[in-house]
Amino acid sequence: MSEEFNLIDRYFLPLCQPLFEGEVGIGDDGAVVTPLAGHQLVVVTDTLVKGVHFPNETCAYDIAWKALAVNLSDLAAMGAIPAFYTLALTLPENEPAWLSDFAQGLKDLGQRYQVALIGGDTTRGPLTITVTAHGWVPKEKAVLRSGAQSDDLICVSGTLGNAGLGLKLALKRLSESEQAWLTEEMATSCLQALNHPQPQLDLGLALRGVASAAIDVSDGLLADLGHILEQSSKGALSALGAEIYLDALPLSNALRRWVSNKRDWSLPLAAGDDYQLCFTLSEEVWEGLQQQAAKLGVEVHAIGRVTGENGIKIKQNMRSEGSVDEAWCHALNAGYQHF
Ligand code: ADP
Ligand code: MG
Repeated sequence: MSEEFNLIDRYFLPLCQPLFEGEVGIGDDGAVVTPLAGHQLVVVTDTLVKGVHFPNETCAYDIAWKALAVNLSDLAAMGAIPAFYTLALTLPENEPAWLSDFAQGLKDLGQRYQVALIGGDTTRGPLTITVTAHGWVPKEKAVLRSGAQSDDLICVSGTLGNAGLGLKLALKRLSESEQAWLTEEMATSCLQALNHPQPQLDLGLALRGVASAAIDVSDGLLADLGHILEQSSKGALSALGAEIYLDALPLSNALRRWVSNKRDWSLPLAAGDDYQLCFTLSEEVWEGLQQQAAKLGVEVHAIGRVTGENGIKIKQNMRSEGSVDEAWCHALNAGYQHF
């Protein structure tokens, strides 16, 4: 057997479950799956390139986890149940220890959400990982970016900015004094946020029929909220905007220290990679959603409101009259841009 097939059989074939009876996974020219009756298929894809989407030193397990997690996060933002995924893997070399850790990362996250690896492609070249994930939503129940309305609350899950701080740590970009603000525990949890994002799939399901719009925070809160506003403005009479209240942003202890010492909100507002959900909903359904989220053990916070005025205004809190001084937030409207 050639080295390529050996590699696929050894590391990836074991991840090809659970499949239903009559379905075909890895090993044939294509996978064969059975559509879920009454549902629509949601398809998402995301590529990670070494040195661009993860630091060069990132371990194989974390790279695999992230490659699958960012795709499951897109499914979560659509309100979809994940079903299966494919993996296009470009590798510089066939290194057993690396591949075994990589497969373990996929296996651990895949098992947690019962998603099977059903196929892929393996090529030689600079390390690049493309996952395409598929999920199901009941017909016409997908949560889109385009449904936000003026006066809706803007909400997020979890906390913001941890992965951004984790990236600074991973790249050793902190000064000694910055490093001294963080306890070891805080540093570990920020690195965890960067390397092991938790796709908010349970919350995504709870948003069906409740949220008017949703997106996962991959490029930074302002940039991603901007996508909701842009898509939702298309059907509205005039362009929608938003107010965000700094006092309401959910921050971990590490981020609280960072923001108060640096007097800079750009990490929670504009750093990417948190993979929390940002969603809008009408005020009447907010209490019910909070109860639902509490049952799921997921934190949700209202951080602002959709307005009928173009642009995103940052205010200190709901009662503040004007916007905050731009110097206070730097990087407004920044967010990660590839080109
Ligand atoms: P083909 O030449 O017909 O495209 P391949 O030789 O690329 O087939 O792949 C053989 C089988 O192994 C296919 O079922 C394919 O889906 C699967 N496969 C190849 N690479 C991967 C991978 N990285 N992860 C999972 N399955 C893979
Ligand atoms: Mg092929």
